[in-house]
Amino acid sequence: MSAEIISGKDIAQDIRRELSDRVAVLKSEKGLTPGLAVVLAGDDPASQVYVRMKGKAADEAGIRSTQITLGDDTSQDELLGVVEGLNADPDVHGILVQLPLPSHVDDQKILRAIDPSKDVDGFHPVNVGLLSVGAEDVLAPCTPSGVIQMLLRSGVDPSGKHAVVVGRSNIVGRPMASLLLRKAEGGNATVTVCHSRTADLGAITRQADILIAAIGIPEFIKGDMVKEGAVVIDVGVNRVDDDTRERGYRLVGDVAFAEAKEVASAITPVPGGVGPMTIAMLLSNTVDAAERLHDADSTED
Ligand code: NDP
Repeated sequence: MSAEIISGKDIAQDIRRELSDRVAVLKSEKGLTPGLAVVLAGDDPASQVYVRMKGKAADEAGIRSTQITLGDDTSQDELLGVVEGLNADPDVHGILVQLPLPSHVDDQKILRAIDPSKDVDGFHPVNVGLLSVGAEDVLAPCTPSGVIQMLLRSGVDPSGKHAVVVGRSNIVGRPMASLLLRKAEGGNATVTVCHSRTADLGAITRQADILIAAIGIPEFIKGDMVKEGAVVIDVGVNRVDDDTRERGYRLVGDVAFAEAKEVASAITPVPGGVGPMTIAMLLSNTVDAAERLHDADSTED
C-alpha cells in the first residue's frame, strides 16, 4: 500500500483563502480590520525570516500587520513596555513575540505579560489552562491546531481513534494531546503521549490509528513502528547534510517517510506538511481574537 499524501500546503492555502473572505466580511459588515503585531528582538536570522513570512501572510489575508523590531540590547522592562502598549491598543487583536528572545530577557515573563485575549500563539498560562480543561473558544497553539485541521480536512475524524503523540513539549506535544482529548470537533480521541523515557516506544506507536511525531530527531519513526493503515502526521523539521543540494542540506521530518508511506493509509510530507499550517493557524487565531474582542466591546457599549 502506498499512503495518500496529506498536503499541508494545499490545506493551508484553503484556510488562508477562507480567512481572506472572512476578513473581507468583517471589514464590510462590522468595520473591523483584524490587526496582528509581531515583536522581534535581536538579530537571529531565522527569526527575521519567520517574522517576514508571518507579516506577508497577514497582509495577504487582509489582516493589518505591524512589526516592532528591537535591538539585541533591549531590556526586559522595555520589552514589557512594548507588550503593555500593544495590550492597550484597540487596533491590535493579536500579539506575537518571536522567540528566542535575547538571553538576558526572561521569555516566560514577557509571554505572561501578553493579554490572554490577544495571545495568538496560545502560550499564555491562562490559555494553556483553558485548553487543558477542554475549553472550546480558546486561543490554542498554532502547530497542533494546524494538525487537527489537517486531519479533519482530509476526512480523518479523531473521535474514537487511538491517537499516539510522540513528544511532550509545551509548543507541540502537550497541546496536541489536549486538543485530541477535548470533547469537541477534532477531539474525542483516546490519547497516549510518549517521550524520551517511554519504554518500548514501538509497541505503543504500533497501536496508533493516528500517529503524531514531534520529536526533533531525523527519521526517528521507522516503518515498522507504524500500524498498517495508520494516519501519520510528521511535525518534525530537521536539517540533514546533503552534498547533492546546492545549500548543502535537506529538510526531513521525524518519520522515515519512504518506509512509513508503505504502511500508512495517509501521511504528511516534510516539507509541505505541517509547516505551512502553522502560519495559517496564526492568522486564524488573529481573526478569531479580533471577532471576540470586537463582540465583547459591542456588548459592553
Ligand atoms: P522539543 O525538543 O521541545 O521536544 C521533543 C520531544 O520529543 C520531547 O518531549 C522529548 O522527550 C521527545 N523525545 C526526544 N527523544 C525521544 C526519544 N528517543 N523517544 C521518544 N521521545 C523523544 O521539540 P518541539 O516539540 O519543539 O519540536 C519537535 C519537532 O517539531 C522539531 O523537529 C521541531 O523542529 C518541529 N516543529 C515544527 C513546527 C512546524 O511548524 N512544523 C513547529 C514546532 C516544532 P522528553 O520530554 O522526555 O525530553
